[in-house]
Amino acid sequence: MDLILRNGLVGGELTDIGIADGRIAVVQPGLVAEAASVELGGRLACGGLVDCHIHLDKACVFDRTAPEPGRLADSVRRSSEVKQGFTVPDVYQRACRVLARAVSFGTMRMRTQVELDPIVGLRGLEGVQQAIATFARQIDVEICVFPEEGLTNNLGTDELLVAALEAGVRVIGGAPASDTDRAGQLRRIFALARQYDCDVDLHVDFGNVPGDMDIDLVCRLADEHRLGGRVTVAHLTKLTTHPLPQQRVIARRMADAGVACAVLPATDLFLMGRDQTDNVRRGVVDANMLLAEGVRACIGTNNVLNGFTPFGDASILRIANMYAHVVQVSTDAHMAECFEMITSRAAAVLNQGDYGIHPGNPADVLVLDADGPVQAVRELRQPLMAFKAGRQTMQWSRPELLPVGTTD
Ligand SMILES: [Zn+2]
Repeated sequence: MDLILRNGLVGGELTDIGIADGRIAVVQPGLVAEAASVELGGRLACGGLVDCHIHLDKACVFDRTAPEPGRLADSVRRSSEVKQGFTVPDVYQRACRVLARAVSFGTMRMRTQVELDPIVGLRGLEGVQQAIATFARQIDVEICVFPEEGLTNNLGTDELLVAALEAGVRVIGGAPASDTDRAGQLRRIFALARQYDCDVDLHVDFGNVPGDMDIDLVCRLADEHRLGGRVTVAHLTKLTTHPLPQQRVIARRMADAGVACAVLPATDLFLMGRDQTDNVRRGVVDANMLLAEGVRACIGTNNVLNGFTPFGDASILRIANMYAHVVQVSTDAHMAECFEMITSRAAAVLNQGDYGIHPGNPADVLVLDADGPVQAVRELRQPLMAFKAGRQTMQWSRPELLPVGTTD
């Protein structure tokens, strides 16, 4: 045994966690073994926060982005202009900045989207890959390549996607809304996924009106290509414009097809309802409702400091807390689900079977200053320390109120 984490709250029980060779060896109370130990003081321990959807390549560029032209944010075009100036070292530095923040807030696994198109070529991918290598001992980051600016109508993009898949990338995404042939893009993405044995993670149905949704085709393609359980859609804001019974019908279709949903509250809140100046719609999908209908769901950061979301600190716990405000959930059961959607359920959406504090899994342990998952989300409790593969990677100190006397 190399290390024992004592008195952590795991699954509602106080227990010790024994770590050997970077893996969890034993989980049991009162563990007797020769090893260094760290006292967790009854605080919540989990397998680390999981951010299912973020864009490392285009983070931290808001200061380069042209001002919004008005109520219509025009984010794709404004970001496209910035993208032309990306270099590999530039992408690397910005991705490192976000990863450092994410690690400091307890994120230990992540799926990053990376854009491929003739504007940026493979520079974004290379910069992100270098940053992932730099942080390899602190966080596991999986890459999903996708065409942000069209595929069927954007000559040279297909070849870049194929090059990335040939080089070993194992998740492919899409953004059909910016394609002149939305169905054509989706069909090509699924064909590539089957050819290269990839998971699929799409930006789908972002919009303010209910009509003309792509989700049905995504479900049909998941069935057709037998990719159920390996497909995720992000945003899906159009769902929120339907009456609730209709939302449930669509959710059940997704559950049947094995299509998961990544809800991205920060970007959705910033960009939805730009056609309105009053009673502005929120557009954040109720992921708790999706769970109730059997859909696998998770909550993601999406963007940090760019034209899509000019805010952010890469804290996925903060995003989960914000999500709960916006969809107006409040029960303990819902809070616990919110925590699961940034931990175990997010890992499940990413098909990571080795997540969690169980013997045999990598010794990834995050300790939060909380008495359980409900308090962690409800009160936005501080992550205190993290261990990745048994090595401590992060430490916060609890704040101390200093004695200043009382006023007379
Ligand atoms: Zn995204």
